[in-house]
Amino acid sequence: AKELGRNTFAFFQEDMQSLSDARLKMEKSLYRAVKNEEFEVYYQPQNNEKGEIIGAEALLRWDDKDMGRVSPMDFIGIAEDIGLIHDIGRIVLKQATSQVATWLQQGVWQEDWRISINVSPLQFAHESLIDDIMLALTKSSLPAKLMDIEITENTLMTDLDSALSKMEKIRSLGISLSIDDFGTGYSSLKYLKDLPIDRLKIDQSFVRDLIADKDDYAIVLAVIAMANALSLKVLAEGVETNEHFKQLKLMGCYTYQGYYFGRPMCAVDFESFCENSSAA
Ligand code: C2E
Ligand code: CA
Ligand code: CA
Ligand code: CA
Repeated sequence: AKELGRNTFAFFQEDMQSLSDARLKMEKSLYRAVKNEEFEVYYQPQNNEKGEIIGAEALLRWDDKDMGRVSPMDFIGIAEDIGLIHDIGRIVLKQATSQVATWLQQGVWQEDWRISINVSPLQFAHESLIDDIMLALTKSSLPAKLMDIEITENTLMTDLDSALSKMEKIRSLGISLSIDDFGTGYSSLKYLKDLPIDRLKIDQSFVRDLIADKDDYAIVLAVIAMANALSLKVLAEGVETNEHFKQLKLMGCYTYQGYYFGRPMCAVDFESFCENSSAA
């Protein structure tokens, strides 16, 4: 038994070793990726009930030379741990604002479309966030009213007072605020009533089984009703099928995002996507 215990421990140590090797490799690659700006912003359309584009969400892509494409779900958390998330956030702001400003000039991007930028709780709490946003807007000459910031409910968990004053500051610039992944976090309805927000994004986990699962159906219906009652806009995420689209429309949700309308695309592809959909 002693022998077995020792072997188990040896295996465990080996596992831990390779785990921390992989982690270390990822951290080193992230430092290099930030330095060389190896990140690229992709754009996923957001649509109204007629299928028309009303804006896009900026989604980060990273192709590492060894690891290939690394999902933001796998590197954002690590970038937060090692303090690189703020630099990455500035890269996203810079790329997205200058791209959208260019499209606006070219007539590809319409004046009533908004570009949604994801900001994690840690980014939101950082003292430089407002300056970073304002700098990106100034440098690109993008009007603030074309920008939307997506935060999650958990942003409100740590320090509600300072989160609130930051939200008000952002709104006062003309930028809109959305609550991302709504329904998966810990915000209370009491907050929701008083918060300076414009829009709820219903998390895709509720939309996925909307047709088959009566609980998901009930949750989505309740969120839509609540949003309407509080005069908030509501957008459904993860709309993958025509069934989803039709059902959500029946339920009173009139803005959508998901593979049914379009996948996240690189700038060149998004541009032709816009040209094709305006021609149609
Ligand atoms: P999110 O903000 O909830 O973004 C939506 C995610 O759902 C994206 O994954 C998108 O590609 C995916 N998606 C869109 N439509 C559909 C659909 O119809 N079906 C399914 N199954 N998925 C769909 P992605 O691009 O891999 O991003 C994952 C997460 O990484 C994001 O979730 C967000 O939390 C984070 N992220 C991405 N870009 C950034 C960024 O620039 N900054 C920060 N802080 N986080 C980011
Ligand atoms: Ca988002
Ligand atoms: Ca989301
Ligand atoms: Ca999500």
